Parts: sequence; structure tokens; C-alpha cells
Amino acid sequence: MSTPNPAFHPAAIAPADTPADTPADTPADTAAATAAHPAMQPAMDAVIIGGGPAGATAADDLARQGLRVLLLDRAGRIKPCGGAIPPRLIQDFAIPDELLVARATAARMVSPQSVRVDIPIEGGFVGMVDREHFDEWLRARAAAHGAIRQIGRFDRISRDVDGSCIVHFQTEQGPQQVRARAVIGADGARSRVAEQEVPGADRGRFVFAYHEIIAVPETKPPGYAPGRCEVHYRGGVSPDFYGWVFPHGASVSVGTGSADKGFSLRRGVMQLRDTAGLTHARTLRREGAPIPMKPLPRWDNGRDVVLAGDAAGVVAPASGEGIYYAMLGGRLAADAVAELLRTGQPRALATARRRFMREHGRVFWVLGMMQHFWYRNDRRRERFVSICRDRDVQQLTFDAYMHKRLVRARPMAHVRIFLKDMAHLLGLARVS
Ligand SMILES: Cc1cc2nc3c(=O)[nH]c(=O)nc-3n(C[C@H](O)[C@H](O)[C@H](O)COP(=O)(O)OP(=O)(O)OC[C@H]3O[C@@H](n4cnc5c(N)ncnc54)[C@H](O)[C@@H]3O)c2cc1C
Repeated sequence: MSTPNPAFHPAAIAPADTPADTPADTPADTAAATAAHPAMQPAMDAVIIGGGPAGATAADDLARQGLRVLLLDRAGRIKPCGGAIPPRLIQDFAIPDELLVARATAARMVSPQSVRVDIPIEGGFVGMVDREHFDEWLRARAAAHGAIRQIGRFDRISRDVDGSCIVHFQTEQGPQQVRARAVIGADGARSRVAEQEVPGADRGRFVFAYHEIIAVPETKPPGYAPGRCEVHYRGGVSPDFYGWVFPHGASVSVGTGSADKGFSLRRGVMQLRDTAGLTHARTLRREGAPIPMKPLPRWDNGRDVVLAGDAAGVVAPASGEGIYYAMLGGRLAADAVAELLRTGQPRALATARRRFMREHGRVFWVLGMMQHFWYRNDRRRERFVSICRDRDVQQLTFDAYMHKRLVRARPMAHVRIFLKDMAHLLGLARVS
């Protein structure tokens, strides 16, 4: 698309008391309405709903192409998140060093019987970001490239008489609406855009995650390591997921998740705080949110709306890692929208899901199976942590996490892991 990046035109956002989708009564009204909202000239090329990692990335990519982009986001909510990001994300999305509040260079896995497996992260690190600043930086970058930021709450999408899309939202000044040639729904888990526009969106599955942000005490608890992420597998901490202790410089995120609505996540976090020696440390925030566990069967409405990130159900099973996949989803949705705008072919929108699943579908499937088998009960969790002592498992797991690829270069390592896995599953291997 060769459209120059124009300055924001105020007529693009119309107050909702002159609804564009209400048929005009008189010829004069019709003329006025048509002049205010030219039917074939949508005011925005793309409206992006949600300014988290998915939406901010999509807005940035489209704005860089010179398209007219509106990024609509609710005011002021900090996303509850452990904030762990892999090097691949830092590289692919050009994240500057100053956004990293900590770098984890080791991971510790803790079994139900408190067996600890320490895994050094060789030749790299896991970055830690604070979502308050990380998300804002991403939105500001999109704005610097020409995206228009709008604070407001998405309400609904309606259609003009010619079928074109009108996005309705609420602001402090009252209801507003904007025309869009395409919409990206990046409004997170339990997305309103998905619910309204995309068939099958009601089939999402979720884990509910809860964490407490704790100030690291001046006198550090014994064994506290600012460069080490801890992952706890124990039924008391989570019956079907895991608990974590992620250092963030001056603070630490201690959290857990579960799909079991009867399970007390707060009690799980209390246990983790106790284990980490942080029971009496100052709590800065307590917060929770759902994490989707399965990509939705469709991400687009076959017309002009496509989903990205949590809205599309894209979080890695077993690990709950979602930031990288949200940003990639935002990028693929932006590519799909750019193609739609260039060619006028709505089927372009389906390329976002297709491309994503081609690259990551297999890993998601493996992780889903892993969660299903190994997170079932403490006996299996004990075996799972035991498997992670294996150097081959460590290296393949970290390669997959850090670089988002399955290493094909070492087929014998895969075979060895498969055999060890089977031995553990069948109870033939000793738990060490
Ligand atoms: C407790 C917890 C810990 C986690 N830890 C990690 C971790 O360590 N590493 C990791 O990779 N992932 C983690 N995740 C997952 C990760 O946070 C998400 O996958 C990621 O934030 C998804 O990004 P997104 O842009 O799709 O959605 P979100 O980050 O949820 O952003 C959605 C945006 O849409 C806006 N919005 C929603 N509704 C509306 C509306 N009606 N109108 C306007 N705007 C709206 C919201 O305000 C928000 O800005 C964690 C999740 C939870 C809950």
C-alpha cells in the first residue's frame, strides 16, 4: 500500500450521537451523512483494539508501512504477568536493554518432594520486563511511527449500509465511533472482538493465573538468587499447572495458575512465598488474569476482522508463555491486514493463523501433551523433574524456549529423550 502516512484527521472519529450506521431520514441528512462518512473511503485503514504486546506490535508494523492506524486501548491497566521473555523476542522485536529489569541466567525446577534441578542457561539469559513500562514503550514506539493512540473502551462493531466496518468505543468524552477498512482484535483473553465477530471464539480454554509482586527485602532470604527463575511443580501449588518465583530486580513475581476453579491460587502463592522465605516481605500488588490454553479454531471473520495474541488463544501450553507469541501474532495479523488492504481479498486474513500454526503448531501440540501427561499428579511431576536432570532434555528445552525452534541437528538426542520419556511414563526408570 502506497498511502502516505497522513496526520490524524479529526473527522475520522465521529461522536456517536450522529451514528453512521443509522440510516439518514432526509435527502439533506443523507448528503450530510455521506459527506461526513464517505462510504467508500474508510477513515482508518486499520483499527487495532488492545494495546498489549500483540496490538502494539501490529500497530507499529502497519504504521511503518504508511497506513492510517488507530490503536485503541483502555486506560491505565497493568497486565498481570511474570514478565519473562526469551532472547528471540528481544532480537526479533528490537527490544532495548533498558527495558530489561533483570536477566535470569539459571532456572531451578523444584519437584513435589523438593528435589531441585538447577539448569544453567548457557550462552544466554531469560529477560525480565515490567509490563507497565514494557507495554507503554511498545505503544509509544507505534505512535512514533505514525499510529494514532486513542484511550477508550471498545464496545462493538456495526456495519454501515455498504457493509463497511464501524468500531464503537467509549471515552471520557462519551461514546465515539470510527470507520475502519480492517480491524485487529488484540484485546486479550476473553476478547470482546472475538466473541462478537469470530465463530468458535466461545471454545476457548483457560488457566486462571494469579501472582503477587513482592518487594525484595533488604536482607535477602537465605538462598535467594536474583539471577535465577524458579519453577515449582507440586499439587499444593497447582493441581494442573505450576508455580513460579521470578526475580525482577527490586521486586519478585510469585505466582501460580490452575484451570480448577475450586483451587485456591492465593493459598498456592502463600506456600510459594513460604518456601522462598518471602512470607513477611512487603506485597506491592496482587493480581490475576486468565491465560488461554488453546489457539482458537479461527482467527478471522472472513471479511475484515482478525485476532492476535491472547484474543486468538495463543499462549504456549505447559509454560504459559504468551508475550513472544502475542507479538508474533500481532505481526502476522498486521501482514494479513496489509495484504487484505492491498488486494481486497478477505481470504488474506486467514494467512495469520496458517503461518503461525505452520511455525509453532507442533511445539504447541507437544507442550499440550506434556502438560496433559506430566502435570497430572505429584508422582508424575516427580518423574518429570527427574527427567529434567538430563543434559539432552535441558538443552533441547532451552533451545526451544530461547530460540523458538526445535533443534533438528541432533536426532540421537531426540531418540534418547523419547526412550527415557517412555521409561519414566511406564515407571521403568528410577526417580532420582
Ligand atoms: C499472571 C500471569 C503471568 C504471566 N507470565 C508470563 C510470563 O512470564 N511470560 C510470558 O511470556 N507470558 C506470561 N503471561 C502471558 C502473557 O501475559 C500474555 O500472553 C500476553 O500479555 C498477551 O498479550 P496480548 O497483547 O495478546 O494481550 P494483553 O497483554 O492482555 O493486552 C490486551 C490489551 O487489550 C486491552 N483491552 C482489553 N479489552 C479492551 C477493550 N474492551 N477496549 C480497549 N482495550 C481493551 C487491555 O487493556 C490490554 O492493554 C502471563 C499471564 C498471566 C495472567
